[in-house]
Amino acid sequence: MKNQFNLIATVAAGLEAVVGRELKELGYQTQVENGRVRFSGGTQAIIETNLWLRAADRIKIVVGEFPARTFEELFQGVFALDWENYLPLGAKFPISKAKCVKSKLHNEPSVQAISKKAVVKKLQNHYHRPEGVPLQEIGAEFKIEVSILKDRAIVMIDTTGSSLFKRGYRTEKGGAPIKENMAAAILLLSNWYPDKPLIDPTCGSGTFCIEAAMIGKNIAPGLYREFAFETWPWIDSQAVNKARQEAKATIKADVELDIAGYDIDGRMIEIAKKNAEKAGLENVIQFKQMRLQDLKTDKINGVIISNPPYGERLLDDKAVDILYNEMGKTFLPLKTWSKFILTSDENFETKYQQIADKKRKLYNGTLKVDLYQFFGERVKRQMQ
Ligand code: SAH
Repeated sequence: MKNQFNLIATVAAGLEAVVGRELKELGYQTQVENGRVRFSGGTQAIIETNLWLRAADRIKIVVGEFPARTFEELFQGVFALDWENYLPLGAKFPISKAKCVKSKLHNEPSVQAISKKAVVKKLQNHYHRPEGVPLQEIGAEFKIEVSILKDRAIVMIDTTGSSLFKRGYRTEKGGAPIKENMAAAILLLSNWYPDKPLIDPTCGSGTFCIEAAMIGKNIAPGLYREFAFETWPWIDSQAVNKARQEAKATIKADVELDIAGYDIDGRMIEIAKKNAEKAGLENVIQFKQMRLQDLKTDKINGVIISNPPYGERLLDDKAVDILYNEMGKTFLPLKTWSKFILTSDENFETKYQQIADKKRKLYNGTLKVDLYQFFGERVKRQMQ
């Protein structure tokens, strides 16, 4: 099998630079593209990045890339790849996804079928299996994806399994939860550091608080879940265990954190507490039922991160207008605090009655949202 791979970390639009920075911090050289960051490494890289990347969606192996203007070109291109270096005899290898964008080939089911035929033929040749007799697919699963953009195909194997935002701790959620990797990305984009107080005044199921506590305690986001690559025979399970053990050993259990989550809905607070407990963080985060209009604090230099209800999602328009207006008034006295507010409401600043220092366009699922950033006074002086 192989010992060096071209890899891609897929990432939500707008957050590529965050994943790029995470990969650099792990020691990889990166190339940032739309929706993905390329890097390379051995099996250790597959293990490490799945375990440690907080803001990525998935890690995929690039098996090959080639022009695919016709089905014949697609077949030959897929057939030419070194599948025998990835797929042991007996492996399951569904073409789980085909995507065609701005290309001559656009019938995705046909792209799937042709690609499957090409891989089957290659493996039949390699393993000396008779043609016409289907290969038995009974072993470990390797999900293959074919994506054709502007007549160029890229063929990948997913190493992750269920998306990396599924950390395993969030068993219950409210009506409009934010994905765990998006919450982590916003924290990594913000000016919050573990030595500053953090408040999420509309915490819902507690995602921002839990992700912050995991960052603060250096808990690997993938520590308590499994990955598709763990079922592959050529991944050394001892190396996986070792990576998990090392990740456990680097947890900073004694770091003091000041993280609080509030919500008007007492049921959400119960859910947030349960999720924190699942993540082993029940004694780290203070969750309490409270209206954001009642938020007061004497602490300084803290960070507020909030994903309040948006019109489309949870509240009617009038209630949202009032809430955003009250939010502005409630946060105004907290001069040294920075505020990061994620909403799809394009008139947020008018309702909140303050112009953001910075705005960043993101996607919460398919919904276009903006991260409105207001920097605390002390931070502003430092930046000048
Ligand atoms: N980020 C959260 C989801 C937040 S949804 C997660 O990942 O689960 C918005 C939350 O704001 C809801 O849970 C709702 O109960 C809460 N909310 C609405 N009005 C509020 C108010 N006035 N004060 C505090 N919380 C409020």
